[in-house]
Amino acid sequence: MKSPEAILQQYFGYDSFRLNQANAVENVIAKKDTFVLMPTGGGKSLCYQVPALVLEGTAIIISPLIALMKDQVDALRVNGISAAYVNSSMNIFEQNDTLNQLKEGKLKLLYVAPEKLSADNGSFLKLLEGLNISLFAVDEAHCVSHWGHDFRPDYLFLNGLKERFPQIPIIALTASADEITRQDIIKQLNLQEPIVLISSFDRPNIKYFVQPKQSVSSHILQYLNEHPNDSGIIYCLSRKGTEDMANNLKVNGVNAAFYHAGISSVERAKVQEDFIKDKTRVMVATIAFGMGIDKSNVRFVMHADLPKNIESYYQETGRAGRDGLPSEAILFYSNADLMKLKKFAMIEGNEEQSSLMLRKLQQMSDFAEMQKCRRQYLMEYFGESHDGNCNSCDYCLSDLENWDATMDAQKLLSAIFRLKERYGKNLIIDFLRGSKGVKITEYMRNLPTYGIGNNGDKSYWHNLIKQLISNDFLRESNEEFSVLKLTENSKEILFRDKKVNLRKVKTLSKAVTVNEIETFDPTDNVETNLELFDDLRILRRELAEQENVPPYVIFSDATLLELATYLPDSKEELEQISGFGAFKIEKYGELFLKMIVDYCKNHHLTSKIAEKAPKKYRAPKQTNKSEAGTYTITFQLYKAGNSVEEIAKIRNLSLNTIQNHLANFVEVGTIKASELMDIKKIDPIISIAKTQTIQSLKAIKEELGEEFSYFEIHIAVAFYKWQEKNINQF
Ligand code: ADP
Ligand code: ZN
Repeated sequence: MKSPEAILQQYFGYDSFRLNQANAVENVIAKKDTFVLMPTGGGKSLCYQVPALVLEGTAIIISPLIALMKDQVDALRVNGISAAYVNSSMNIFEQNDTLNQLKEGKLKLLYVAPEKLSADNGSFLKLLEGLNISLFAVDEAHCVSHWGHDFRPDYLFLNGLKERFPQIPIIALTASADEITRQDIIKQLNLQEPIVLISSFDRPNIKYFVQPKQSVSSHILQYLNEHPNDSGIIYCLSRKGTEDMANNLKVNGVNAAFYHAGISSVERAKVQEDFIKDKTRVMVATIAFGMGIDKSNVRFVMHADLPKNIESYYQETGRAGRDGLPSEAILFYSNADLMKLKKFAMIEGNEEQSSLMLRKLQQMSDFAEMQKCRRQYLMEYFGESHDGNCNSCDYCLSDLENWDATMDAQKLLSAIFRLKERYGKNLIIDFLRGSKGVKITEYMRNLPTYGIGNNGDKSYWHNLIKQLISNDFLRESNEEFSVLKLTENSKEILFRDKKVNLRKVKTLSKAVTVNEIETFDPTDNVETNLELFDDLRILRRELAEQENVPPYVIFSDATLLELATYLPDSKEELEQISGFGAFKIEKYGELFLKMIVDYCKNHHLTSKIAEKAPKKYRAPKQTNKSEAGTYTITFQLYKAGNSVEEIAKIRNLSLNTIQNHLANFVEVGTIKASELMDIKKIDPIISIAKTQTIQSLKAIKEELGEEFSYFEIHIAVAFYKWQEKNINQF
């Protein structure tokens, strides 16, 4: 029996498993039931494909999406693996042909649509009983549960599977399951003592941006001009919206198309196919588009209109960057959109449903309005904890300034206290601002806090409330009419004079700006030959066309980038390129090598494969093209022995920026704090930082005084954060 690692390298050209993949593979090979929860792009397929190749017999994969089935089978065949599918799109002869291959034991993997299980009184399952089956994989397993958002009655047939085939392991996989759905899947499939593997839902290669919804078309055009080679999806709310947007892009020379449920199914299939095959660059679509799209090189997903809830937003943005390369999610936000959607959310005669939808909509708008790391908000929404400071969302990339909000926080909290924690934010704000409205009673007007907040307008107070909530200085009750409540921390502010340091955005980082520098390969400092990269893409497209498969089935963008960076010049060197398994080297190696070697000759270049670190030892992927570049330059100059001041001068950037860069390297452990500051000063700073809920450099500085510079404090705090993150390893 071959080892899973050998299979991974030989057939798929990858040299290591991702964490939960290894666990899943090992478990299935040991013939145990397994449940895998992984985000889109996490790498679910390999969890059953590798065991299928290790074990004897045929693996049966139940998958509900016909388009995906075909894609997967194409991708396997391109890797030299015998795979096939049966579904209702095939005629009876084609189906029989495949079933004959199955009976003869010629298939390693067979994909089947769920309806096939119930058809003809379950004759398919009867057929399987006489054959050597290695495993059952249930893809999109949430379809088996009534709790899931996509229940499919055909999936119910799966609950007899375990009883009929008690010896055969079942692996269930999904990207969307809350706790109830998860339990239900395990119950419905009758999994026996399953190992449950849950991966983080974070998508570190996607950068999140929210921008005000103004002159959207021109912003989008500018973005497309700045990213001329990138393909992506723009979501609009209405059918007409998609048509207008696509037409406008076309008029401006962008290769775009639109997609919505109102166009014929033939036309839809064509539009979708063109996008998948890289013939259409930008797809403008309603949410009808995307289900079953597996295109791995979607570089951006934009929302020209506000999505209805975080779940949809996350699912849609999740279609970006399945190949693991840096990608961007950009939301254009306006209050007008919020109002419009609120109207849609009111369903007459269904109070319960309406209020649920309104709450979800509110959370969507909180995401857009909140002054907080976007990734942290998303992760916490899905029940995972996250420290913030992701360094790859607009908030974290922005120029932030500290802001002493103590006084206004005190005003706000004492108003809530005086009004006995019985009112929602609108009334509290009216009260603070001294409104003469009818809701403010005579009794209220006589309270001492009435009207003490007319220094700020409504949106100022709304914003402060949000920030206080997100820092746990305040909370909102979950009743029908939510009411502001004090927390333990708010009492510290009210009665013990605790300072409130918040941060606010000075200039918001935007997706649509000219990047300072483009470094393509996010992991190394070796330059990518973009011209060659383009040529390789053309070659890939031609091959894809010949074989009638989508280009990414042949090679992902990530693989082509490695080629254009490391310039391998022999088949041995190709083995070191991620995505080149033995089969693909034989099949495509020469073609690609020829193109690379010619290019090198013309440009007087030679192979740089020696500079490619073995993948296992490489730094985790940086997620941000321009930032990765700018940080790297600072780092190189620093390593070359330049002082902070010198680096700032050379780069023509502010001292502050360079200091921030360096602090970043301290925070990830690349630079030691002691290289940058007097080691004796570190402890006093950390001991104060430890007492703070949110680290405020300013507050630390106030306590320590003149002898400690902001830079030193920043570095020590960064060091402290690094320690905190790595505490388990000591
Ligand atoms: P999912 O089904 O979870 O959405 P896929 O199985 O389609 O994800 O995998 C997403 C991408 O990640 C694919 O391009 C796949 O080839 C790549 N991938 C998966 N596992 C690995 C690995 N161990 N090393 C490198 N690339 C991987
Ligand atoms: Zn962030």
